[in-house]
Amino acid sequence: MHLKQSRRCVACRQSKLQNEMIRLTKINNQILIDEKNKLGGRGAYVCKNDDCIKLAIKKKLFNRAFKMNVDNSIYDQLGVYEQNN
Ligand SMILES: [Zn+2]
Repeated sequence: MHLKQSRRCVACRQSKLQNEMIRLTKINNQILIDEKNKLGGRGAYVCKNDDCIKLAIKKKLFNRAFKMNVDNSIYDQLGVYEQNN
């Protein structure tokens, strides 16, 4: 158990409570949106607000966070969160 996991937003670089963020995780070299925060793996976060989500999609910031090419379908899924907020 890591008690001090980094939960820094890939867009605004601020650390927030986990319930204010969307978690993405890398499992078996695949990126998944970890909606229930229980998938494990190496995580990266974005705030649940339009500005951060928009920036993360526009600049594909998760590619940098995970050091790999994140599938466009993942960014499409993030776009759904943006519209829901
Ligand atoms: Zn943010």
